[in-house]
Amino acid sequence: MTEIEKRTKSGWKLENSYAQLPELFFSSLDLSPVFHPELVILNYSLAESLGLDIQDLQDEEGVAILAGNQIPDGSSPIAQAYAGHQFGYFTTLGDGRAMLIGEQITPQDERFDIQLKGSGRTPYSRHGDGRAVLGPMLREYIISEAMHALGIATTRSLAVVTTGESVIRETELPGAVLTRVADSHLRVGTFQYAASLGTVDDLKALADYTLQRHFPDSNTVENPYLFLLEEVIRRQADLIAKWQLVGFVHGVMNTDNMTISGETIDYGPCAFMDTYDPKTVFSSIDTYGRYAYNNQPYIGLWNLARFAETLLPLLHEEKEKAIKLSKGAVSEFIQLYNQNWLSGMRAKLGIFNAELGDRSFMERLLGAMHKYGADYTNTFLALTFDKFEDTTLFESEEFLEWYDLWQRRLDRQEESRDLSRRLMKNSNPALIPRNHRVEEALEAAEEREDYSVMKRFLDALSNPYAHSIGQIKYSRLPEPSAIPYRTFCGT
Ligand code: AMP
Ligand code: MG
Repeated sequence: MTEIEKRTKSGWKLENSYAQLPELFFSSLDLSPVFHPELVILNYSLAESLGLDIQDLQDEEGVAILAGNQIPDGSSPIAQAYAGHQFGYFTTLGDGRAMLIGEQITPQDERFDIQLKGSGRTPYSRHGDGRAVLGPMLREYIISEAMHALGIATTRSLAVVTTGESVIRETELPGAVLTRVADSHLRVGTFQYAASLGTVDDLKALADYTLQRHFPDSNTVENPYLFLLEEVIRRQADLIAKWQLVGFVHGVMNTDNMTISGETIDYGPCAFMDTYDPKTVFSSIDTYGRYAYNNQPYIGLWNLARFAETLLPLLHEEKEKAIKLSKGAVSEFIQLYNQNWLSGMRAKLGIFNAELGDRSFMERLLGAMHKYGADYTNTFLALTFDKFEDTTLFESEEFLEWYDLWQRRLDRQEESRDLSRRLMKNSNPALIPRNHRVEEALEAAEEREDYSVMKRFLDALSNPYAHSIGQIKYSRLPEPSAIPYRTFCGT
């Protein structure tokens, strides 16, 4: 058995297949230890599925590893290089504050990137300090785990460790390291980096690596690079439709924050909307609403067009033909997205079959929700349980007319009302990580070192379709406020 194939005491079994790519794609890293690491939250079920020992992860050595103070046997830490369009402008980037300690091989022989976020400076840090602040790391933990439980592809959070060091932002804040787990950290921006700074051979090496890692079915297809493009488009059309269906606003859909695996990544300024408003923007820096809720599918399309451009040299040796292939693939996105959204919305309304007028029927409901300032999640919950509290929406003529149409629509399908109800329960979450609840959990943790609020919240979020009594309090709306909720990148 080679060194790399052994599982350590804690269960780490790390490889680094990414480091076999040409050197321009990464930099090897030295550790930059933190002063006094303390584990504040650990994801037991994720740890177990990764083959890690929960007890050992919590002892001194276990925590030292999660803080980036020590590396497990077999690990050779790297930072990955990438580029990206940030708010439309192209830049060269790279992990400025993250260290990939390796790819964990699970007992089921799956491979997951293990990345420490906030672990110190790297060659890509530019003017940054390479560190992360506790609040935003806990926020990422909560929202990414909530997304996972909602059935939305996402990077996961294994642990947060405080560093015992302060991080200087506008004020002095407690530092932390988040362990992020991902199918991979390959991004649209990784391909942009290869296409702009590498040779065609470098690009090909990256594409081949990606195919092998994420799309093994490509072995049998005629044009594997076209297959890669089509599959990434398909996965993003699925992902973004799911975001829309739960009211998730990513907030920073730069091309470096769009994965090839189809996982949601980069929980900076994201948030879930309460009141349904298609123009919802939470991010304090998204002045023009580029990444507003209703723009997300179009930004997805724009990003995928940038991805397609990077693949041109591989799609066909004749440029014209390559362009034609890429345009053909990209033009499928909106249709795929629409299909996903429509079938997701049908399920939210307990509908099993498709009818021609479905979109306008759904838009009538959404239009009324918008007009009367209805809560997105709770409107669907009210429909699911036939429990209409006296909100202006439910008393409105628009809603009552729509409700009639809906009843007739349900009558026209074969499936029983019971089956419809069951479908709706499985498609409409009892709770989402509402902003005021997230803030409440963070405040308890940051100001009082009380993690119990966060843990109870995580517990309720872990099974959003259970519709249990314990979840009811989390569906309550925040007190009305004149100040809109704002989010920050948390860098
Ligand atoms: P993001 O907006 O989170 O996608 O980050 C954009 C880029 O800034 C990425 O390359 C990050 O690695 C980098 N970055 C963010 N925060 C820091 C930091 N504190 N120190 C160094 N680099 C950072
Ligand atoms: Mg990012």
